[in-house]
Amino acid sequence: MRKIIIDIDNTLWDLAPILYVKLLEENPHMPHHSEWRSWNFWKGLISAERLYGIIKDVHMEQDTFAPYEQSRDFLRLLREKGFYIVIASHREKETYGPTRRWLEKNGLPFDEIHLSYDKSVLFDACWAVVDDSPITLEKARQAGIVRVGLKNPWNEAEDHPLFTDLGEVYEYLQGQCREVGRG
Ligand SMILES: [Mg+2]
Repeated sequence: MRKIIIDIDNTLWDLAPILYVKLLEENPHMPHHSEWRSWNFWKGLISAERLYGIIKDVHMEQDTFAPYEQSRDFLRLLREKGFYIVIASHREKETYGPTRRWLEKNGLPFDEIHLSYDKSVLFDACWAVVDDSPITLEKARQAGIVRVGLKNPWNEAEDHPLFTDLGEVYEYLQGQCREVGRG
């Protein structure tokens, strides 16, 4: 069975606007999320420790936020296609409870949850990864697995297959399945 890694933040739900509001409370000079043009946009504006603390607070309340409208259908289609779904998020182990509740409450199908600070440890056993992080996408390219993600200001300058919604991401994955089929 083919395994696929699916990210959560800015892949299955819209983290950026929520994070922006919280970051603005810390620093009034924080740019709007539409201006986050690199993965490290926050450097010099907030400490790494404080940033991770704020992100953890959001993750601890994960079950209070809504997923993207297409997330459920996207995961259902992957399931129907026979994929084994590994939900993988860069977040603390302590956030497992709210993360799992969020998936279940919103009817988001999955087979496994992986929370860590380096999801590339999963790459050897997986066919593809869906993620918006330019760091993860680059690692996937180097590992030679299929990579795809939603286009965002912090990744759009990079050379990766990026799309505006999960329907397009699914189409791309289907195309990659056919490529392999033609082998
Ligand atoms: Mg993400």
